[in-house]
Amino acid sequence: EKAQIGVTGLAVMGRNLARNFARHGHTVAVHNRSYNRTKELVEEFGNEGTFIPSESAEDFVASLERPRRVVIMVKAGAPTDAVIDEFAPLLEEGDMLIDAGNAHYLDTRRREAALRERGLHFVGTGVSGGEEGALHGPSIMPGGSPESYEALGPLLEDISAKVDGEPCCVHVGPDGAGHFVKMVHNGIEYADMQLIAEAYDLLRQVGGHTPSEIADVFRGWNEGRLGSYLIEITAEVLKQNDAESGQPFVDIVLDQAEQKGTGRWTVQAALDLGVPVSGIAESVFARALSGGADVRKAAADAGLPGPSATAGAHEGDLQADVEQALFASKIVAYAQGFQQIQAASKEYGWSIDPGAMAKIWRAGCIIRAKFLDFIKQAYDKSPELTTLLVDQYFLDAVSGAQDAWRRVVVTAAQHGIPAPGFASALAYFDGLRAARLPAALIQGQRDFFGAHTYRRVDKEGAFHTLWATDDRKEIDA
Ligand code: NDP
Repeated sequence: EKAQIGVTGLAVMGRNLARNFARHGHTVAVHNRSYNRTKELVEEFGNEGTFIPSESAEDFVASLERPRRVVIMVKAGAPTDAVIDEFAPLLEEGDMLIDAGNAHYLDTRRREAALRERGLHFVGTGVSGGEEGALHGPSIMPGGSPESYEALGPLLEDISAKVDGEPCCVHVGPDGAGHFVKMVHNGIEYADMQLIAEAYDLLRQVGGHTPSEIADVFRGWNEGRLGSYLIEITAEVLKQNDAESGQPFVDIVLDQAEQKGTGRWTVQAALDLGVPVSGIAESVFARALSGGADVRKAAADAGLPGPSATAGAHEGDLQADVEQALFASKIVAYAQGFQQIQAASKEYGWSIDPGAMAKIWRAGCIIRAKFLDFIKQAYDKSPELTTLLVDQYFLDAVSGAQDAWRRVVVTAAQHGIPAPGFASALAYFDGLRAARLPAALIQGQRDFFGAHTYRRVDKEGAFHTLWATDDRKEIDA
């Protein structure tokens, strides 16, 4: 018997994906650079399904039915290239290499083009949900050719998370589309986490609540429109007490957030595309600020002063207002992330259906939430939607939230509590709303020092003012 699918790279993620395939009745070929991982997998979990273990790459390839489907689940970067270089020569026309690691989408574009030349399909796929997701059903975002999806899609859909029986897996688009979308998913995840952290901070510092009380607030919110995996686990973390000291767990953890890079990649790509993903950027920078121990120490040593006036009480129901600010800011962050996906889709000719992304993020992945149903509906209604903020549901939500949202930003500023996520989301919203922006002045400055020219509101063309002359005459540029 031959295997329908093979997995090479059997650390936590690869092992769990292989088990997931086997549990769904597929025969799975398994391989790892060092054979001990392969052996362990079969010894520990061999009873879960049918595995064909191989020590050599040649035997592994020979154990697969054609067209061969080889999932690579190794460290992103050079190790992935090494594995591709090892396997590509062993494969035949029409076979598929599937990179399920967290690759950069530009690497995926490069690899796909190189393997296409050799008659092989290369599928860069996003997989979200961590080890648990890999085992019990992740959200899967495969890129690559439509033909490769025909042969591979049904297997991936089989092991993916489901919502009402519908798989959280869809063909995203050609070459790097899958990894791009996974990257933005992670960027949105950063923003979501930052906003939740700001909500907690305000309830704690302004509201004077304990972490355990705030956990209850989050549990309540989880029953409403904010209901999501991240809100749910936030409540769990806030309820946790340190076994050793009896202190709240959040008080004994060093307050320096780390990152592996997908948030940074999202912002870098957004800068290149010219899409203002301020929510994601603020969250990446907030992590960097928290981790900047030297600068924070210098500030503490210098005693950087806080507000001189004693801040008054929050003008409103703090808890209700923070919920509104959180929801509105979340809408902005998602609107920006989806705009980035649409911009990249246009730039690379990917034809990504944004509504389908919302659909496959409803389960299995870290940002899973009821909220995504509304995003899906918005794009179902108008697939060409320029920004989610103009969809009626989101427009109503943000309009309803905005007074509370503004009060929260004011309170944060008056108390000297950083809320970059809430504040920058509000600034973005006000920027979009503005009839006139001071960008006109910036154009004037640019024309003054660099003769960069400007356009006028009342006629076509490019103009330059002769700033150095006495009469400052305007000329057609
Ligand atoms: P690691 O990223 O820790 O990678 C370990 C695996 O890579 C081992 O199988 C190792 O083999 C193999 N490997 C490393 N270098 C080479 C090489 N040069 N040649 C061949 N094999 C090599 O494993 P994880 O399971 O944590 O993650 C796998 C991928 O999944 C990564 O790209 C990661 O970013 C991504 N990931 C995704 C998550 C998600 O939620 N989607 C969560 C975690 C990870 P050996 O045993 O011989 O050392």
